[in-house]
Amino acid sequence: MNAVQKSNTTPGTPQKPAPVGSGFNWRWMYVFIVALLLFPYLSSLLSTVKEITWQEFEKNILSRNAVEKIVVVNNEKANIYIKASFSNDSAFREVLKPVVGKGVNPGPQYSITIGSIESFERKLDEAEKAFPANEKINVFYEKKTDWFWGILGWIIPFFLIFALWNYLLRRSGGMGGMGGSSIFNFGKSTATLIEKQQSNITFDDVAGLEEAEMEVREIVDFLKSPETFTKLGAKIPRGVMLVGPPGTGKTLLAKAVAGEAQVPFFSISGSEFVEMFVGVGASRVRDLFKQAKEKAPCIIFIDEIDAIGRSRGKGAFLSGANDERESTLNQLLTEMDGFGTNSGVIVLAATNRADMLDPALLRPGRFDRHIYLELPNMNEREAIFKVHMRSLVMDDSIDIHFLASQTPGFSGADIANICNESALIAARKKKSKITREDFLDAIDRVVAGLEKKSKIISPEEKKIIAYHEAGHALVSWLLKRVDPLVKVSIIPRGKSLGAAWYLPEEKQLRSETAFTEHICATLGGRAAEEIIFGEVSSGALDDLEKVTREAYMMVVYFGFNKKIGNVSFYDSTGQRDNGLQKPYSEETGSLIDEEVRKLVTDAYNRTKEILTQNKVSLQKLADLLLTKEVIYKEDIEAVLGKRPEFSIEPLKAG
Ligand code: ADP
Repeated sequence: MNAVQKSNTTPGTPQKPAPVGSGFNWRWMYVFIVALLLFPYLSSLLSTVKEITWQEFEKNILSRNAVEKIVVVNNEKANIYIKASFSNDSAFREVLKPVVGKGVNPGPQYSITIGSIESFERKLDEAEKAFPANEKINVFYEKKTDWFWGILGWIIPFFLIFALWNYLLRRSGGMGGMGGSSIFNFGKSTATLIEKQQSNITFDDVAGLEEAEMEVREIVDFLKSPETFTKLGAKIPRGVMLVGPPGTGKTLLAKAVAGEAQVPFFSISGSEFVEMFVGVGASRVRDLFKQAKEKAPCIIFIDEIDAIGRSRGKGAFLSGANDERESTLNQLLTEMDGFGTNSGVIVLAATNRADMLDPALLRPGRFDRHIYLELPNMNEREAIFKVHMRSLVMDDSIDIHFLASQTPGFSGADIANICNESALIAARKKKSKITREDFLDAIDRVVAGLEKKSKIISPEEKKIIAYHEAGHALVSWLLKRVDPLVKVSIIPRGKSLGAAWYLPEEKQLRSETAFTEHICATLGGRAAEEIIFGEVSSGALDDLEKVTREAYMMVVYFGFNKKIGNVSFYDSTGQRDNGLQKPYSEETGSLIDEEVRKLVTDAYNRTKEILTQNKVSLQKLADLLLTKEVIYKEDIEAVLGKRPEFSIEPLKAG
């Protein structure tokens, strides 16, 4: 129930134009098949021949001697033709009704389905016994081959197999993105091409990445006027690797380079090379470079290159697709070696795991330049806010500096998201301008999810939540090294029932005390529940998860524990699968578990002590929360006075 200001980053997915249709419309084919299947039913509806039984035939037709002839077709059906002279007879008028252009209906007028030819003949002989010899009915036999159904019987299975095959191919081709819609362009590159006229992103749209911008400006200069460099014999880097967490503007920077240099831009994601068919990846790489060379000077941007560029040979037994990925990577390396330094194609690649990449990819001549993008600091965030606020209609009350201070740990994409979200919130409230409140709501929404006022919470539960949050607030208020509190709320949001917001200071280093005190503040909720109600609830799940993670980090990574000593089992290469192989012995493993438990227990006891000593303040805060639901730092100051500077000595880890 304790939300720290850390957001889920939402990396922007580049917009891709819709795939162009493949020309032939398959929908018509399906309509055709349905029509074919319905054909017999429809033709029987249209038929004028009336189906009757033998009894009806004998009683109504034969007895009146109205039969002209009988034609037995395929030994299955006896078609009966009525004498034209009966056209005035009321019983036959209807069936002999003149047909357009033919006078009287030529027939057959009736048909009987017969069981076997012998029994039919026997019955007919029997019935005709009384007839004079010259009036016996002529019976003809006909064999009709139904070509239509014969041919159709052959065609339909083939057709169905072909349709199924085509459907499967289109499905699997479509998985790689656009372009793979038919077997013939399966190995073609699926990159999206943005022509130079279409790229209108420039360095003005990129904020707060000064150093990175400086580095890539050189590439722009080269693409614009390569002679300046080549006449001095300089070689221009062929590949530049942009490394940074998602949403920090890697794609944006690459697009800005293309926009500034006014060159075409090919954008593809590393995962698009990986298909279920062997060899497709390599073929796509070849095709991409072929297309790029035709458009040179241009930029190829490969997002998430780690999908193909991961170290070869490592973890091979875990991933079956390793061979395919290796051949794709080999092809990429060959292509990068293949084109001359000055051919005008520059490859920019983005990843957030540079440490996982194959060293061959990073050696000189390939991606030898690395540009690191970090999450923006306060000033950079302010600059990013300014860029995204350009198009917004805002109130004068908006303090960009304040907004930047409220969003530590946010990426550029998060900030873009907040700006958009605030506009949506203001529009929903039918305001003419976006106000400060809308921005704060947007930040809360991005951090903790949507408010769920409709969630049904009983008064008892509400009380527990209020004490839980008051516990967090009070402990963090009284401990020196915990980040300052901004607000506390007991309105359910997203999955949490209540939340406390802190304003983290931007520090690169955190002391051991800061870690322990943070653990205490996180345990404050559960401790408050225990002190007030005598038992704990399940509401502390999120807190306990954080506490456990942090405690293990202290012991296993940062070397804060005396017994474990100054060792760290952190794996910066990311190549060790911690789930399978632990880098320490069983003995050390159990010592770690023991020390972590001790650390958390000590912190919990300390927290309970703090809360017991300040029980009155805890009750006051909880009451305030129950009446106001959301309280700010100022409200807490009104109840507890200013945050004490050194009221409690910094905690020492056990
Ligand atoms: P990445 O490729 O690093 O995951 P993107 O470049 O796709 O991130 O960023 C997504 C969006 O976030 C961009 O379209 C842009 O609107 C916004 N953004 C990210 N970084 C910045 C920045 N430095 N300046 C301005 N906008 C940014």
